[in-house]
Amino acid sequence: RVELKQITKSFGILKAVHESDVVFEEGSFTTLLGPSGCGKTTILRMVSGLETPTGGDILIGGKRINDVPIHKRNLGLVFQNYALFPHRTIAENIAFGLKYRGVSRADAAQKVTEALDIVRLPGVEDRYPSQLSGGQQQRIAMARAIVIEPDVLLLDEPLSALDANLREDMRVELKAIQHRIGVTSIFVTHDQSEALAMSDKIIVMSDGRVEQVGAPEEVYNNPASVFVANFLGASN
Ligand code: ATP
Repeated sequence: RVELKQITKSFGILKAVHESDVVFEEGSFTTLLGPSGCGKTTILRMVSGLETPTGGDILIGGKRINDVPIHKRNLGLVFQNYALFPHRTIAENIAFGLKYRGVSRADAAQKVTEALDIVRLPGVEDRYPSQLSGGQQQRIAMARAIVIEPDVLLLDEPLSALDANLREDMRVELKAIQHRIGVTSIFVTHDQSEALAMSDKIIVMSDGRVEQVGAPEEVYNNPASVFVANFLGASN
């Protein structure tokens, strides 16, 4: 469970996130949804440790982690440009984070195989990224994120670099992977249909503030403000 209490972030005179209370429940898939500039990425970056809050607390499993450096937070990260190392094999790409955790070679190989099973791409250990499709590469990025058995999985617009058809397939695939391992996941998107299709819970943001929190059908059928109604009603 990840809890943000009165979390605040200012960049100079710009307040990107206003005192906000946000909870990401254990094992759930929660989406931060909102238009460009609403502060969703800033929230994700504060959880990951890439940004320091200017106010408030971040708790993971009840423990305050504001001052815990990024490499000591046990997090899995998947971004839009998932950037696999082109000259390393798939196995080396996935095992990258394990090296720094002192995992032995044999254990790493075993964990890589397990991660590839979870993302349903068994047997590609010795291939190179360029030999895989875009969707397959994105699944490798997922494997790399989950192989360390993270406390929390952070997904920042992970599907937006993929073409439209693939994006739809990957919605289902990504959600299935999350479901298989049950990791607490925070997903950031500006795509309302993606959020509605994938989330256990949606947090709608506007202008650095939380506008509404609820299950997809709740938010869709019962928008709390004109902003939410307009944003969810608009097509991409
Ligand atoms: P997008 O979908 O475009 O990434 P977002 O909802 O994720 O948008 P943020 O990236 O969190 O929005 O940005 C929130 C606000 O904070 C924006 O006005 C942005 O310009 C500003 N901001 C973000 N990072 C910085 C930074 N490092 N320095 C100054 N301003 C920043």
